[in-house]
Amino acid sequence: MAFKCSACGKYMSPQDGANVTCTKCNKQLARACVGIAVGASLMPSWACPVYKLKEKRCNKDTTPVKPSTMTVANSSEVSNLGEEFRCFREEMRQTREEFRAFIEELWDIRNLVSKCDAMRMRNAMRCESSRTRSKLSWNHKSNMALKDSKLKS
Ligand SMILES: [Zn+2]
Ligand SMILES: [Zn+2]
Repeated sequence: MAFKCSACGKYMSPQDGANVTCTKCNKQLARACVGIAVGASLMPSWACPVYKLKEKRCNKDTTPVKPSTMTVANSSEVSNLGEEFRCFREEMRQTREEFRAFIEELWDIRNLVSKCDAMRMRNAMRCESSRTRSKLSWNHKSNMALKDSKLKS
């Protein structure tokens, strides 16, 4: 029967010694997936990384918090508040300066845009005038042709 590796979900190689079994959760894992070389000996109570992670997290959660450390944490929090407020004000000042720079940049952009607009206007006018000129000449030509045909007939 083929087992799937609990780490990557792939079928494990049936080769002897290519896989390890977690002594804590009885999961089968490929040695390659848990970073254990084939042939390397395991501790009799080897646990997979998933179990170790869970265990670590549990230990952290159940660590009793002494009341003395609680009060220390609280008092440092209070003194940090003033520090934080100062930082916040400093940040605000920087933001204001950034904003001013941004406005100045905006003005630059606006100037650039108005310059561009003027250029575009000029180009458009040039375009328009050349178009009317070509239209006029076309009208002229067609009028001439009309006159020619009239003369012939
Ligand atoms: Zn795997
Ligand atoms: Zn395990």
